[in-house]
Amino acid sequence: MAKQHRSASATWDRLNRRIVRCDRCPRLREHCLTIAQEKRAAYRDWTCWGKPVPNLGDPRGRLLIVGLAPAAHGANRTGRMFTGDRSGDFLFAAMHAAGFANQPTATDRDDGLMLQDIAVTAAAHCAPPANKPTTEELAKCRDWFDQTVDLFTDLRGFVALGRIGFDQIVKLYRDRDWLPAGPRPKFAHGAVHTITGRPFVMCSYHPSQQNTFTGRLTLEMLTAVFTEARRRLDG
Ligand code: SF4
Repeated sequence: MAKQHRSASATWDRLNRRIVRCDRCPRLREHCLTIAQEKRAAYRDWTCWGKPVPNLGDPRGRLLIVGLAPAAHGANRTGRMFTGDRSGDFLFAAMHAAGFANQPTATDRDDGLMLQDIAVTAAAHCAPPANKPTTEELAKCRDWFDQTVDLFTDLRGFVALGRIGFDQIVKLYRDRDWLPAGPRPKFAHGAVHTITGRPFVMCSYHPSQQNTFTGRLTLEMLTAVFTEARRRLDG
C-alpha cells in the first residue's frame, strides 16, 4: 500500500511539473509573467510565481474541485491554487469546516496546509486577463484536466466552482461518453448531478469577491456544499 501511495505521489508530481512548464497559450503566459514582474506595491518582497499553477492536494483523494483559473495576485503570486487571496480564504475555511483541510487559511506555499481526500484543479492553469480565458485557451488546458482526472483511481465526485469549471467537467463527460441521453446538465448553486457508475458533480458559485462581497455566496453556503460532498463520499 505504501508503495502505491509513493507511486501516486510521483505520478502527480510529474504531471504538475509538466503543467508548470506548459506554454501552449502565449497570451496567458505573457500576462502571468507581466503581472509577476510588475508586482503590486504590497507584494514587493515576494518572488512572484508568474507560471502555470499546478494541481494541489491529495492525489489519492475521492473529490476533485474544479475552479476557473489562478487569480493574478493570488495563485499567480504564490504558485499554489487559491492561495493568498480572498477566494482562497473562503474556500479553505469551508473545506476545513467539512474536514477536508487541516487549517482554514492558505497564505503561501509553506504555510503547512494539508488537504485530505480532496484535490484542487482549474479549467485553466494560467491567470487570464480579466479572469476570462478564451474558448481556445480552455480547450488547450482541457488536456491537463483529462490527465489530472485519469490520475485518480477512486474518484467519487467533482465540485465545480462556477460555471466555467462546470462546463469543463461536462465536456469531459461528453467526450468520454459518460453523459446519458437527455438534456445537458445545468449549472445551479447546490445542484448535484448523479450518473450511475460515474463521479457525481456538485455545483457551487465561485468564491470570487464578486459573489462573496455581495452575499450571493456566503461561507455557510459553501460549507454546506462541502459538507454534502463529505456525506456523499462517506454514505
Ligand atoms: S492555460 Fe493551460 S494550456 Fe494554456 S499555457 Fe496555461 S497551462 Fe498551458
